[in-house]
This record gives sequence, C-alpha cells and structure tokens, in this order.
Amino acid sequence: MNYGDRDVPFTRITEHKHFSPWESHQGSVCYREFSRQAEPGDTPYYPIRLVEEKSLLEQYVDLANATPGVTFVGRLGTYRYLDMDVTIREALETVAAFDRDGGAMPAFVKSPI
Ligand SMILES: Cc1cc2nc3c(=O)[nH]c(=O)nc-3n(C[C@H](O)[C@H](O)[C@H](O)COP(=O)(O)OP(=O)(O)OC[C@H]3O[C@@H](n4cnc5c(N)ncnc54)[C@H](O)[C@@H]3O)c2cc1C
Repeated sequence: MNYGDRDVPFTRITEHKHFSPWESHQGSVCYREFSRQAEPGDTPYYPIRLVEEKSLLEQYVDLANATPGVTFVGRLGTYRYLDMDVTIREALETVAAFDRDGGAMPAFVKSPI
C-alpha cells in the first residue's frame, strides 16, 4: 500500500505473501519503505534527472550511439525510472526489433532522452 501523505514518514508498506496468493503461510512479514537521498556507500536505486545528470546522460547517449553492436535496455541501461511492466514490455519490443531487423540494432530502441 502506498502512503502519499506528508505526515506519514514511509512511502509504502509491503506484505510479500500477497504477491503469491496461491501459497499459504503461517506467518507474514511486512516492511515499511522510507525514502531518502542516497549517500556514499548506498546503492543508488533511483535515476535522478536534474540538469547536471541530464547533461552527463547526454554524453553517455552520444557515446552509446557511436558504439556499434551494443543495444542498451532497462532501467540501468537507459537511466530512466521504469516499473516492471514497462521494463518487460521494452525488453520484448527490443527482441522483436532484433528479429525483425536481422540484428542491425540501434543503441537504443527507446531513447533515454
Ligand atoms: C526500491 C524499489 C522499488 C520498486 N518498486 C517497484 C514496484 O512496486 N513496481 C514495479 O513495477 N517496479 C518497481 N521497481 C522497479 C523495478 O525494480 C524495475 O523496473 C526493474 O527491476 C528494472 O529491471 P531492469 O532489468 O531494467 O534493471 P535491474 O532489475 O536493476 O537489473 C539490472 C541488473 O544489472 C546488474 N548490473 C549492474 N551493473 C552491472 C555490471 N557492471 N555488470 C553486470 N551486471 C550489472 C545488476 O546487478 C542487476 O541485476 C522498484 C525499484 C526499486 C529500486
């Protein structure tokens, strides 16, 4: 469940057993997710696209476009915030484009910019 209210310190609560309703469990685990700015030593999970990051991204995109034989997909590869459904759809679209175009693939099927 998502919690978008300003006075609630966490952003959501997840109870994983509901992801697999066909299973039965004696107990359960719930966790609360607290959002904060990534600090040194953290894994930075979310792409940030402010002015500085976008300018760096453009340099990476130029480099990728100039590199033949590599296609970038997914959240890490395109530096976009993607949910699972979009990630999977774009992966399938990329494979379809690969099949259709006989392997002559651009660096990005979905432009990151
Ligand atoms: C905290 C959090 C909560 C989320 N909640 C939701 C949600 O509720 N619903 C939803 O739909 N989506 C959610 N997402 C998004 C979802 O996780 C992503 O959309 C999905 O995982 C993206 O898949 P991906 O394959 O593009 O990237 P990833 O799953 O990040 O896969 C990238 C892989 O590349 C590997 N890797 C990294 N660097 C290298 C390297 N140099 N060499 C080799 N391998 C490398 C990584 O270890 C990783 O396994 C959430 C994401 C986060 C971080």
